[in-house]
Amino acid sequence: MRQRGLYELPANPRASRAFLHYPSGVDDTGPIIDLHSDAYFMGQALREARKAYAAGEVPCGAVITREGRIIARAWNQVETLKDATAHAEMLALTAAQETLGDWRLEKCTLYVTKEPCPMCAGAIVHCRPERVVFGCSDAKGGAAGGWINLLEANPPLNHRCDVTSGVLGEECLHLLQQFFREARDRKKLERGTGEIIDLEN
Ligand SMILES: [Zn+2]
Repeated sequence: MRQRGLYELPANPRASRAFLHYPSGVDDTGPIIDLHSDAYFMGQALREARKAYAAGEVPCGAVITREGRIIARAWNQVETLKDATAHAEMLALTAAQETLGDWRLEKCTLYVTKEPCPMCAGAIVHCRPERVVFGCSDAKGGAAGGWINLLEANPPLNHRCDVTSGVLGEECLHLLQQFFREARDRKKLERGTGEIIDLEN
């Protein structure tokens, strides 16, 4: 039987509680890490994004915190689950609701590596977290100010989130660019119209 890999979410969202801990092995001889900073939690969202990358998914990751504690983690799983709604934010919202036993994510902050799309922004407004923090902006499809702004549009929506952008934005963008560059290279190779790329080196 195959052991559950590091990059798999539990099949049962309730089991996601098992993920609710700070990472072990924090080195107290290294630089001081502020475990409550936006940068720290975005770093955790980036860890989730790298799991998506390793699984061949568009590398987006999210974590949700409540009063300084991570209560949900998720990475984009559209291909894995064959579900176009399985964006990191959507899965994280569901996991956080399971954890709290409430659909209202009061006092919560959602950290996500890329600006939420309109679907996720709509879901976020319904779940009512206090804040949304994202890494890189999406000028074409972002719904937190890049293209449109659903998170701070009140009225007509019945909830307004405080939005912080650009936290570890370079790292978040770099991971996405790397993914799409590699996807393009693979396509070129498949079509046989591109350069021969030595994938071993
Ligand atoms: Zn989305």
